[in-house]
Amino acid sequence: MNERLIDTFFKMVRIDSESGEEKEFISYLKDLFTREFRAKCTIDDYGNLIVNIPAKDSARNEPVFFGVHADTVKPGKNIEPILENGIIRSKGDTILGADDKAGIAELVEAIRTADRYPPLEIVVSREEEIGLVGAKHLDTSLLKSKVGFLIDMDALDAVVIGGPSHMTIDVEITGKAAHAGMEPEKGISAIKTASYAICMLKEGWIDEETTVNVGVIKGGEIRNGVPERVQIKAECRSLTHEKCVAQSQLIREIFEIAAKSVGALAEVKMEMAYEAVRIPKDAEVVSIAEDAVRSVGLDPQVRLICGGTDGSIYNQKGIQTVVIGMGAKSEHSKDENIAVADMEKAVGMIQHIFDEFSG
Ligand SMILES: [Zn+2]
Repeated sequence: MNERLIDTFFKMVRIDSESGEEKEFISYLKDLFTREFRAKCTIDDYGNLIVNIPAKDSARNEPVFFGVHADTVKPGKNIEPILENGIIRSKGDTILGADDKAGIAELVEAIRTADRYPPLEIVVSREEEIGLVGAKHLDTSLLKSKVGFLIDMDALDAVVIGGPSHMTIDVEITGKAAHAGMEPEKGISAIKTASYAICMLKEGWIDEETTVNVGVIKGGEIRNGVPERVQIKAECRSLTHEKCVAQSQLIREIFEIAAKSVGALAEVKMEMAYEAVRIPKDAEVVSIAEDAVRSVGLDPQVRLICGGTDGSIYNQKGIQTVVIGMGAKSEHSKDENIAVADMEKAVGMIQHIFDEFSG
């Protein structure tokens, strides 16, 4: 077992970095990359870390991009990693933080032990888990790469070449308040209006590549009042951008019609969080990722996913970025765990990628 890899990973997960509170961890990484690899480190205006490492034994001039994220979900404070039978987990009261610190530790170990690598351009983003916020704010004028890899998928055999368009939909319904016992006929219930609309919506899978969800509903103030206001947070995703737009438009209309029919008002705000990405299957960056998966004895699964990753943002910003695995299981839960053997495989994959770009 690679003790140094485990030690690096343990050190990282012991530094708290819930979304929005990554400063200490980012500065730890800045020191590490500077000290170990003579890297040039820049922290951009938003607090993302950009690391440039000169090539080792490689004639390539154009850097290759690697993306990871610094933040974790909650509960991510005072994480105490435990290694048992080759598997690392938390004590049980927190997440482990392998998402995405396993990816970072694997990348660091790959650089330490590689015979050669091209110039590396690494971005450690902030606030990935709360909507890819750091990547969206990233100052891409600081980057020179055209292709790269985001190390942030759970499955090691995954080669993710596309993600969805994602529309956030915020609805506020305004009815009319009235005393529920004295003169309910004068009120218009915002709760009832919202219920009509939500019952008319199709949720879950709309087709094989489109989903809709109503995730939050808040409304009403008092038991004995006809509720005047309800707020709803919904979303739509689709691997086809036009479908996402059309389906979201339909959701808007349903809320507006439901409100109109009872004399209420529905205010619908829609925002495209990010747009669908699809890298051609025959792109060089895809075949290199597939070869990397094969190099550690796995069968690569080229996939599209409906989840958002920083990869969506980097692709939009002009860096063709494939998402590869780091080996964590049950992320975003207290059961999150990772096998040391899988971390070692991920190191091998990253080194294979280094090699392919060094020639
Ligand atoms: Zn992640």
